[in-house]
Amino acid sequence: MTAAAPPGLPAKMHALVRAFVSTPGLVEETVAGFGTPAHLVFPQVFAENLERLRARLAARVPGYRICYAHKVNQSRAFVVTAQAAGVGIDVASAAELDGALAAGFGPERIEVTGPKGEGFVRELVGAGVVINVDNLWELERIAALARPGTRVPVLVRVSGFAGTPVSRFGVPLHRVDAVIKVLAAERERIEFRGFAFHLDSGEPAERVRAVESCLVLTERAYASGLTPSVLNIGGGFRQVFTADAQAFDAYVHALRESLLGRGEQMTWAGNTFGFHLEDGAVHGTPVFHKYANTVDAERMLSDLLDTELETHAGRTIAQIAAENLLEVWLEPGKALVDHAGITVARVEFVKETADGSTLVNLDLSRDTVTPADQEVMVDPILVPARANAAANSGVTGVFLAGRLCLERDLIANHKVWLPRCPQSGDYLVFPNTAAYHMDLSAARASMHSMPPKLAVVQRSGTFAVCPDVDYRHEVA
Ligand SMILES: *Cc1c(COP(=O)(O)O)cnc(C)c1O
Repeated sequence: MTAAAPPGLPAKMHALVRAFVSTPGLVEETVAGFGTPAHLVFPQVFAENLERLRARLAARVPGYRICYAHKVNQSRAFVVTAQAAGVGIDVASAAELDGALAAGFGPERIEVTGPKGEGFVRELVGAGVVINVDNLWELERIAALARPGTRVPVLVRVSGFAGTPVSRFGVPLHRVDAVIKVLAAERERIEFRGFAFHLDSGEPAERVRAVESCLVLTERAYASGLTPSVLNIGGGFRQVFTADAQAFDAYVHALRESLLGRGEQMTWAGNTFGFHLEDGAVHGTPVFHKYANTVDAERMLSDLLDTELETHAGRTIAQIAAENLLEVWLEPGKALVDHAGITVARVEFVKETADGSTLVNLDLSRDTVTPADQEVMVDPILVPARANAAANSGVTGVFLAGRLCLERDLIANHKVWLPRCPQSGDYLVFPNTAAYHMDLSAARASMHSMPPKLAVVQRSGTFAVCPDVDYRHEVA
């Protein structure tokens, strides 16, 4: 009888990234010069993601614009790549705006979203950038600060669609009439481009309802003498982390069983991952549900644009946009950096804990690879150090601990099975960390310095690495 394979969470990886990680000695050589932990970004993967979204749009609508949502990652290489590809950029702070300008974006290609205070609004008025207005206060400040003769281009973000959770952002639908009134009265100073929304939801029907609401508002704006020409559908297009949905389901099944006390213990210190146990069953949605997704961003986008609206005699959203001369804008963040970044950590030491678990201690902290309230549900890749090449303990189930002096700094609270037990000096590579993971970290709690960020490119089969800030785009 052969033992069943241990539960696994194989990560989807781009072929280029996989080639980098599996080239013998390359990870070790790369971090030797910069130290660990390190974040690595792959601008060529970013460029491919961009082209795939662009192809879906180009096949459906005559006018469109992709604005890369900069806040997903601070990488300069990604901004430079977006600039070279000719798309737009969505910035949400003065520093992001400066970064976009420095990378060569002209103001007409820059859209500014998010909450803006008085100082930022003053900076934006007259800068020539498109301001995606969050609220009535902001619109009135723009009108007051704008000089007649230089019309400030604006979009208006709306929220509060039926069946969508309340949002802190945007003008609620029932207040849009007040906004239209200001837009109509201030036509000399404000150039209204259209309505915008941004939803975090993976639920297609929510986006369809948001589009329908924006189309109704667009007509209302026309009736008030305005000439909107844009429909901005925001970001929120999903990533796919898993390489094997069945394996993912099997892992989660085994995890639920273990929560009920059946089979091998799979959770660290009684963690339940947002599930709750009641009447001998496991209920609820786990904190890691995003890792289960299998619908990629391109499909989400094309499914949305191909949705037929009953309110428009069954015409698709793409057709309606085209017939009404509305450009479709989107603001993808995580979809563009999907599979375009990894994080390399070093194994410091391995120990046994009081409950008999094996705990692998790494030189990074939990929130360097995932928002602290989530759980990384793809297996890291063990890259043996050259010095440990002979080690062969066989498959081992471990938990992963971080470097902070805090009980909660566990990187994996679920059991991870690795091909052999890691040893001091080995590396663990965390796949697909470029979206929000790298830069939203509070990991400086113990005064550790921030991990270096490096850009990796492959040319003629050879990899070259440089600090992200020094990245230069070269025409392939
Ligand atoms: C964060 C943000 C985005 C990007 O969201 P993703 O989920 O990363 O695609 C787009 N638009 C706005 C207004 C945002 O705040």
